[in-house]
Amino acid sequence: MTDNSAWDDVNWDLDFESFEWMVHLAACFNSHLPTNLPWAVWPDWSTDMPGFVVDDHRPGWLSALRLVHTHPRIAVAGNSITVTDSRGTARVLEDVDVSSRWWHVDVCSEWNVPLEVVAALDARHGPSPSHRFVPGQMEQICLGVDDDVLSYGLGLAVVLQAMLDGVVLFDKATDFHAARCRFCRETTYRQGLRGQGFEPGKEVVFTCGSCTSEPVTN
Ligand SMILES: [Zn+2]
Repeated sequence: MTDNSAWDDVNWDLDFESFEWMVHLAACFNSHLPTNLPWAVWPDWSTDMPGFVVDDHRPGWLSALRLVHTHPRIAVAGNSITVTDSRGTARVLEDVDVSSRWWHVDVCSEWNVPLEVVAALDARHGPSPSHRFVPGQMEQICLGVDDDVLSYGLGLAVVLQAMLDGVVLFDKATDFHAARCRFCRETTYRQGLRGQGFEPGKEVVFTCGSCTSEPVTN
């Protein structure tokens, strides 16, 4: 079913190849629906917007487009989506299109985790020295759908929900441990094993990249 009046509200000044256009057109085609209902109409646009979406994945994309359009702390311009979390920090997803499956999100540029976030993480996981700071290795985290049959649109919706929350990204970025290479004795922080190995001399032992690539000679 095509609602012909959908075209009345279309802003023809937008870039037809942008994600912003996709959000806008979907909003026009679903504006007749009550605001509490999910969007159900895939826009009748011949070039299929920034990329082709198979029928099965369209409901997932419609839910992501609806979230972008309706949430007061999400904005879209061109191919960038800006999300402001509940603590007021704005983060940007760049180059958004329908073929995007994995998203790199900058958690924070400061070393220290805000004290109220540390308290929330301690309450959730038990106290951990990793909750107090975000080392360079963890500043940016990768989010997305690890399931081929799931619509990437649903994956984007999950990423946006994580970015709206003030704690979820820090929860992921503070899941790291202190490690020491068994060969060169260099210490570093590595993903996972939240808070383990922080006592001096008790670091988690591993083999670092440069020691792994050394030829084995006995
Ligand atoms: Zn090493």
